[in-house]
Amino acid sequence: RAKELGKSRFKVFNQRMHEAVLRLMALETELRKAVERRELYLEYQPIIDLAESRICGFEALVRWNHEYLGSISPAEFIPLAEDSGLITDIGDFVFEQAVTDLKKWNVPEGIAHRGSLYVCINISGRQFMQPDFAGHVEQLIREWNANPEYLRFEITESVLMEQMSVVADTVSRLRTFGVRMCIDDFGTGYSSLSYLQRLPVDIIKIDRSFVAQLQNDREGRSIVRSILSLGNSLGLDVIAEGVECLHQEQVLDDMECRYLQGFLYSASLSVAEVDSLLAMEAPLAYLRFTAESGGF
Ligand code: C2E
Ligand code: MG
Ligand code: MG
Ligand code: MG
Repeated sequence: RAKELGKSRFKVFNQRMHEAVLRLMALETELRKAVERRELYLEYQPIIDLAESRICGFEALVRWNHEYLGSISPAEFIPLAEDSGLITDIGDFVFEQAVTDLKKWNVPEGIAHRGSLYVCINISGRQFMQPDFAGHVEQLIREWNANPEYLRFEITESVLMEQMSVVADTVSRLRTFGVRMCIDDFGTGYSSLSYLQRLPVDIIKIDRSFVAQLQNDREGRSIVRSILSLGNSLGLDVIAEGVECLHQEQVLDDMECRYLQGFLYSASLSVAEVDSLLAMEAPLAYLRFTAESGGF
């Protein structure tokens, strides 16, 4: 009986695995086509500067809407893109698109009176570790006539822990171009204080799992507080990710966390939505207002 049960469980498991593998294989083929057909596009999530009470930048988030499969999360297709080598093409597309969109938003006659905006671009591990990544970026900057002052690259902590000397070299080179470096999902990797000192990064993003714990208990708060004081003492900007409610904002504000991002203000927006948002007199007030009534 038990044996039989075991067998049938194995069968089910096996079948599920088989289906999962098939999906991945199909997705990879589709992703290749998506890149060629330019089916991918970007959305932008606002980043808030509490001190100046304004939107100070956006994080570019890649989207894929397949004609039959519907929308597929980057959490699923980015790893696939890394394994298949498609990440370079996707990365180039994200860079080009983000730079082009930002140019439109940063025009002097537009929102310049509100200060300039930056864009955060996610760089995956495989992409970052490709030979001469910095040289490639230098070329892209020239090709697209980008202003690197307004560019920020996000890399996760785990990437930074790999091959320290290569990573440190790439980070330094990117910074000499003027690109700022940001550690994404900070606190989820194997952080050690020494690597932060050795790496010339500019910004850290507190992972949203820690922000989610802010309401709960003192312990939850103390992790965020210590990341903030670490950031402050190293002269880094700190962004809290995944801010979903006013209470979290309040606690973060009390801790003097200056930069916030999350569904409380807005989920990622289409280019057209950002266009109309930035045309408004008070974009942040608008986001706050609509957040209360269920988003943009
Ligand atoms: P990430 O860089 O940490 O991006 C933040 C993710 O959290 C986004 O998911 C965003 O939509 C989501 N998020 C933002 N605010 C909130 C909130 O208040 N609550 C909750 N629960 N979630 C929030 P998304 O867009 O699905 O992206 C997932 C991951 O995929 C990203 O994590 C990033 O690692 C990767 N990714 C996205 N776009 C790109 C890209 O252009 N290139 C690369 N290499 N990776 C990307
Ligand atoms: Mg990110
Ligand atoms: Mg993140
Ligand atoms: Mg993440």
